[in-house]
Amino acid sequence: MADDFDYDLFTIGAGSGGVRASRVAAAHGARVAVAEEYRVGGTCVIRGCVPKKMLVYGANFAEDLEDAKQFGWTIEGKSFDWVKLRDSVQADVNRLEGLYGQTLSNHNVTVYDERATITGDHQVTLASGKVITARYILIATGARPMVPDFPGNEHVITSNEAFHLDAIPQRILIAGGGYIANEFAGIFNAFGSKVTIANRSNTILRGYDDSVRDRLLQISLTKGIEFCFHTEFESVEKRDDGSLRVKLTGQDARVFDVVMVATGRIPNVDGLGLETIGVATGRKGEIVVDAFSRTNLDYVYAVGDVTDRVQLTPVAIREGQAFADSVFGGVEPYAVDHSCVPSAVFSHPPIAAVGMTEAEARDTLGAIKVYQADFRPMKNVVSGCNERSLYKMIVDAANDRIVGLHMIGPEAPEIMQAAAVAVKAGLTKADFDATVAIHPTMAEELVLFK
Ligand code: NDP
Repeated sequence: MADDFDYDLFTIGAGSGGVRASRVAAAHGARVAVAEEYRVGGTCVIRGCVPKKMLVYGANFAEDLEDAKQFGWTIEGKSFDWVKLRDSVQADVNRLEGLYGQTLSNHNVTVYDERATITGDHQVTLASGKVITARYILIATGARPMVPDFPGNEHVITSNEAFHLDAIPQRILIAGGGYIANEFAGIFNAFGSKVTIANRSNTILRGYDDSVRDRLLQISLTKGIEFCFHTEFESVEKRDDGSLRVKLTGQDARVFDVVMVATGRIPNVDGLGLETIGVATGRKGEIVVDAFSRTNLDYVYAVGDVTDRVQLTPVAIREGQAFADSVFGGVEPYAVDHSCVPSAVFSHPPIAAVGMTEAEARDTLGAIKVYQADFRPMKNVVSGCNERSLYKMIVDAANDRIVGLHMIGPEAPEIMQAAAVAVKAGLTKADFDATVAIHPTMAEELVLFK
């Protein structure tokens, strides 16, 4: 049967989910091809998590160099060269793209550097006109920034373009109050931009615990980041000098050098040919899949952001792995557990969380215990920085089990990765209490909650 098709698996999209699925399927013995119309690596590697984290590292030096003074260092003639950082980051992105390509070729996965469209049952057609058949099709096309509709929206950028700016803007308006808005607000603020965030509600980082969200808002305001809430775009006009005149609802018109929109991401399904074979999609265009990432057609699967389950790279990777093992690995099909997924926002300072927020726990469990540590990290005391960290533990009162952990403070994502193992494993507050602290650290607060 397999021999009737050109490949056992044809993957559309070589991002985190598509690459993992393709190489694992190939390792299981499948004949695999993948089509990628842009760059191998996808959003995470090319224009998301990875280059963003490098910019965050670059931005951290702004405060570190200031803090260094109280630690006895004299730093003369410091200056920041955006082009140098931008190009260093892009050089590493190129390196990683090469590694991803190598991984695929090492596994004998054929890579087509062009767009693929589904043109019939078990059939795709490449942009060059080549028609290919496959026993299974995996859609892993990811998502793209959603730009709201308003006059002048052709003048705004998204996070895609932010990595390639010629210069750091003096004044930047960032629309949205989510992950990308808060991460880039911290980055541009550190590089000297006057940053304004505008959001349609008065909520930043919806879904995170109120206490850490409030703390980030308070710290961001102290850093000089401005927030405009309950507002939407009326128009953006480009002026002769290249600056942008922005009219937001309920506000006077203002001028910015760059307007960046970070108002969520939508699944990449346009022009894929889903309707040709009748793949079912949801309200936002997302491909509807079951727990095994299978669509309504038994030979078409989808993983990652295009399914709009949890829009996070490590989740897409797990979905790709589970698909490849289940379909080609000769194991009992297994599903990815989407519960208790830890996450982080690389804001300044960063946030990390796992499990239920206090509000969710109150709604679902009723009786809970909440422990909180509100402290000024030792480094900040010496440097004279007033920023305080906040750790919060949510415990099910019925059985002492930790159901949520929320942190804002230096290195919170690094600390959370280890703590999330304990929360996922269902450990109790007593288990944490029984663990001796490592002193002096910030993380020791996790075992010292009173
Ligand atoms: P988010 O979903 O985080 O936030 C979207 C923001 O835009 C919210 O503040 C929302 O407002 C607002 N918004 C949504 N729709 C509209 C609209 N139609 N008009 C105006 N405003 C709107 O999206 P991001 O773009 O920041 O990030 C996309 C996804 O990428 C994230 O959800 C996350 O999964 C992933 N990501 C993860 C990162 C990480 O792991 N560190 C980093 C970056 C991205 P409101 O909440 O008020 O409704």
